[in-house]
Amino acid sequence: MTARSERDAPIGVIPPHRVLIAAERCKGCGLCVAVCPPEIMELGSLNRLGYAVVHVTDQARCTSCTACALVCPEVAITVLRPRKAPPKPEGNP
Ligand code: SF4
Ligand code: SF4
Repeated sequence: MTARSERDAPIGVIPPHRVLIAAERCKGCGLCVAVCPPEIMELGSLNRLGYAVVHVTDQARCTSCTACALVCPEVAITVLRPRKAPPKPEGNP
């Protein structure tokens, strides 16, 4: 599983694009589709190996839960998590 901060997003990936899928690694098993709580993943077009590749239908509804990345046997999914606000320095209200 890969989870990174949006700060580390590859160039050209603009938040709220939270889930990146390596199409050439996907084997179309559908495990990620089955575990996604908001049901925003579905299988689509074939990759060059003939497997249906999963894609996210609505990136804005992704909660960055990482369930899809955790279950993927091909390590094909990267989930970008929103950056947390830095902690306030002590003594500064
Ligand atoms: S991170 Fe969670 S909500 Fe987002 S696509 Fe994956 S399983 Fe669905
Ligand atoms: S779990 Fe991985 S290999 Fe299976 S459909 Fe999803 S991205 Fe593709």
